[in-house]
Amino acid sequence: MSELLPNYLQGRWQTGSGNGIALFDPVLGDELVRADAGGLDLAAGFAFARERGGDALRALSYRERGALLGAIVQVLQANKEAYYAIATANSGTVMNDSGIDIEGAIITLGMYAELGKTLGDAHFLRDGEPAHLGMNPLFQSQHVQVPAEGLALFINAFNFPSWGLWEKAGPALLSGVPVVVKPATVTAWLTQRMVKDVIDAGVLPAGALSIICGSSAGLQDALRPFDVLSFTGSADTAATIRSHPAVAAHSVRTNIEADSVNSALLLPGETSDSEAFGLLVREVVNEMTAKSGQKCTAIRRIFVPESLYSAAAEGIAAKLATITVGNPRNDSVRMGSLVGRAQLVNVNEGLAKLSAATTVLHDGRKASLIDVDPAVAACIGPVLLGTRDADGTTTVHDTEVFGPVATLLPYRTLEHALALARRGQGSLAASLYGNNTDMLATAALGLAGSHGRLHVVSPDVAQLHTGHGNAMPQSLHGGPGRAGGGEELGGPRALAFYHRRAAVQASTAVLAKLPR
Ligand code: NAP
Repeated sequence: MSELLPNYLQGRWQTGSGNGIALFDPVLGDELVRADAGGLDLAAGFAFARERGGDALRALSYRERGALLGAIVQVLQANKEAYYAIATANSGTVMNDSGIDIEGAIITLGMYAELGKTLGDAHFLRDGEPAHLGMNPLFQSQHVQVPAEGLALFINAFNFPSWGLWEKAGPALLSGVPVVVKPATVTAWLTQRMVKDVIDAGVLPAGALSIICGSSAGLQDALRPFDVLSFTGSADTAATIRSHPAVAAHSVRTNIEADSVNSALLLPGETSDSEAFGLLVREVVNEMTAKSGQKCTAIRRIFVPESLYSAAAEGIAAKLATITVGNPRNDSVRMGSLVGRAQLVNVNEGLAKLSAATTVLHDGRKASLIDVDPAVAACIGPVLLGTRDADGTTTVHDTEVFGPVATLLPYRTLEHALALARRGQGSLAASLYGNNTDMLATAALGLAGSHGRLHVVSPDVAQLHTGHGNAMPQSLHGGPGRAGGGEELGGPRALAFYHRRAAVQASTAVLAKLPR
């Protein structure tokens, strides 16, 4: 039996009491390590995090906590080689795709470390200016934001074992809130190794960072009124999380990042030889194939003017045909595997559902896989689907296939295209491609009510833009409706979730004593 990953709780490493759940290499099929959270005293561990970790963090200023993030960055930088090796073995990703997760985490932490410098020596945040409460300006209301006096529990998805932890932990620790992370079991190894390196380096106060690998049983039961919970994962699990008594009984503030049927939209007026058309094709192929399409922000629906449907199908299919799929250790491979055989089953089921209502425009499943045993590896080539009936084919707007799959759909007018994009019922991201700046701006605002982020690609930013699917720390990550209704990142906005707002009603003389 492989090694059991120790959990870190109550300031010490603790091995679960059971045999654990095995984590596998999704390409070679080998068992790697095991995760088990059996027998942990969650109540005591959470209390330790709140009391020891919370007290120690809140005693520091934003600047000092930003310096802690800077120290974490150094630890992660120093151990990067090990992280890439774990990602290859456990996530089956090629170097570039592992980099999205690993380097993305380091960049995000670095930005929050810098924000700590900007916020300086304060221990709380002023929220706006004082407001007069009556005719006489002597008695006023000043809002303040203070660090939440509980812990932050993260229940994370499998596809970002590195970034998924640090994009949340950066804002939480900077805010003064201790973190307990429960990574998705299937890829928990990378998260556990990063936490281990940070703990071993001794850069954080005791109780500031804990990790529980394995079952989620009992985690929400251990939450208390001032705790916060951030969940990333499927809509089904999100529904269970939301209906847990802790949320109802203790008003535990909860952020949900769930699945999303994101879109890319080529604006009217483009032609098959216009630059915007080429930019759309390139981005769609990137998004379908990066991390084998296992990104919550990946493009799932592609909207093009009716007259360009065939040209878009040909352009995207031609590029997809060049994507080599297989063992990420082989230099000729561009796209590695899905996270495991169970995910391969999910993708095939989703494909069957979508295919019943669409036509296959490119079938990467027919190409040979490189350097793998197809009976063992969780590899699948990219599949482009399409239907000319964008209105009548409901499944394409409802179904997220979490793999290298997208559907091409034609529209008649810009209004029609925007209405179709909104049929995703709330998405994380949509990207818009075109030349006409007025129309791009109008379309972006037109989708802002139903999307968390609008990524606008015009030829002047062809070489500069950051990619449809990349959640940049400066921009909001999250989306309304089906996408979970959550908000993460967005620079300083991320801190609001980890703070409590209160109004101080007092004389001007008292308010003047609130430290600047
Ligand atoms: P998942 O099956 O919902 O699992 C997510 C997490 O919830 C895992 O840590 C899982 O633990 C845990 N969990 C499962 N059942 C639970 C329960 N009853 N109570 C508490 N926790 C529970 O999702 P996934 O398969 O890991 O991730 C894929 C999905 O996540 C996709 O749909 C994708 O769109 C979405 N996603 C969204 C975002 C975003 O930012 N919006 C980002 C990434 C992924 P175990 O692993 O131990 O079961």
